[in-house]
Amino acid sequence: MGTEMAMDCRGTLDELERFLDQELPQDKVTEVMGHLRTCPDCQDTFDFHGGLKRIVSMKARAEEIPGSLITKIKDCFGPDWVD
Ligand SMILES: [Zn+2]
Repeated sequence: MGTEMAMDCRGTLDELERFLDQELPQDKVTEVMGHLRTCPDCQDTFDFHGGLKRIVSMKARAEEIPGSLITKIKDCFGPDWVD
């Protein structure tokens, strides 16, 4: 169906915990972000859990967040998510 590359909702939510703990490998982060970009339901879930905003707020305190991840967040959700 042409969705082979995309994670589905269940797969994305299965990765939520590790995503929030930043334990996902970069390629998985990319997959999660790619799904979130097209799925408002999962965006709401991730937002509800405070995941991305927590990551972004952590960036303000520490330099622990890879710039590439910040760039991906901006690409997926717009500059409002960062700074
Ligand atoms: Zn979804």
